[in-house]
Amino acid sequence: MEEVRSFTRGFSAENCNQCGKCIAGCQYTDLTPKQAQTVMKKVTAGPKWYPELAFCIRCGKCDHRCSKDARPSDLQHECQEYKRRRETELPSSMAYAINGLVTEGWGANFFQDIYKGLPKVDRAILRNWATPKKSKDLLWIGCTDRMLPRSLEESRALRNIAKFGGPDDCCGVWAIQAGLMDEGYRIAKRLVNRLKENSFDRLVMACGHCQKVVTKMIPQALGIDVPFPIISIYDYFLEMIEAGTAKVTPVHLDAAISDPCFGYENGNEYLDSLRGLARTIGITISELEHNRENSICCGYNGFFNDGKISKYVKTAMLKRKDFANSGKKHVLSYCPGCHLFNHYFQPGYKSHYLLEETLLALDGKVAEPFSVLYKRMLRPHIAWNLTRVSKSALLPLPR
Ligand code: SF4
Ligand code: SF4
Repeated sequence: MEEVRSFTRGFSAENCNQCGKCIAGCQYTDLTPKQAQTVMKKVTAGPKWYPELAFCIRCGKCDHRCSKDARPSDLQHECQEYKRRRETELPSSMAYAINGLVTEGWGANFFQDIYKGLPKVDRAILRNWATPKKSKDLLWIGCTDRMLPRSLEESRALRNIAKFGGPDDCCGVWAIQAGLMDEGYRIAKRLVNRLKENSFDRLVMACGHCQKVVTKMIPQALGIDVPFPIISIYDYFLEMIEAGTAKVTPVHLDAAISDPCFGYENGNEYLDSLRGLARTIGITISELEHNRENSICCGYNGFFNDGKISKYVKTAMLKRKDFANSGKKHVLSYCPGCHLFNHYFQPGYKSHYLLEETLLALDGKVAEPFSVLYKRMLRPHIAWNLTRVSKSALLPLPR
């Protein structure tokens, strides 16, 4: 008999009264309240893999339905971790989507492949961003925004802020979402140590997903102290506009704003202030049916269940319903990943990225818009690696 240990990744079995409200309200399952109670009674016994949890994409929204502050999404992470550890190998499609492990000898991944194919001038910027800085504010640039380095490096609005984020620096989010909690811990720990090599008063986060991971998951689920005051890049822009150091030329856009999986975890102030910024730069925004505490994932979290495109598509279709109900053809995201996936997998809708729109409004131009990245993804070495992992992403799981 295998001994079942206690939960150690943040879920509080002591607080949980097994009411089932966390999963009964989940968008990704149609469990009735009674069934949800039965499932929660079973799965709170200890961190194991329970097939009843296969629907979960670890979006984190159930934490807000739990009145006992038991953090049920951490239970989901820990059960996924248990499952992953007992698999003979990681799906190659999933391994290709995880950054931050190059220093540990992991092979090619999508982010590194993009960085490798960058023009010389962009690669020089990344080398510079990898070097620790001394600055009042430090701009942390995550893995996806790093694929278009000139956009941030050459921005006039961002000329006074030091920038940081080398090719293998990562918050660890995709390892964590995959259930690779130990790897996620090591990536996150390295990032916190790397940030400590800098000297700064405030850390400005360009990516909201990194912001959630650094402010919530790293300290709460991984137990790593994060001793920095943190603000979002959108608050930074608003400060500049209010101080008169940046001037707005409105972008004139009418779009439905799409909250990503992580938005609500960064707090209502975060959500309100980026909406305020969108209006300030001339975007008329309307809300999706499921925003804020009920926001639906763009689909990418679904991919990290088993590395299958089918689960991604199933999840993305829910988001698509929201887009259709909004009556808008333009969608505004503030997650670079959502923006990328909406562009490719939500035909009929035009995706916009708030960071890019803000640079347009403040600078009048963007040195490397996302359209440049779409071309970069066509490089032969990326096409080759995508073909190599496609079997693992497309074929059904072995029975
Ligand atoms: S985690 Fe919270 S919402 Fe879920 S069953 Fe336990 S007490 Fe209820
Ligand atoms: S983490 Fe998300 S998908 Fe999983 S149970 Fe909670 S709300 Fe549902």
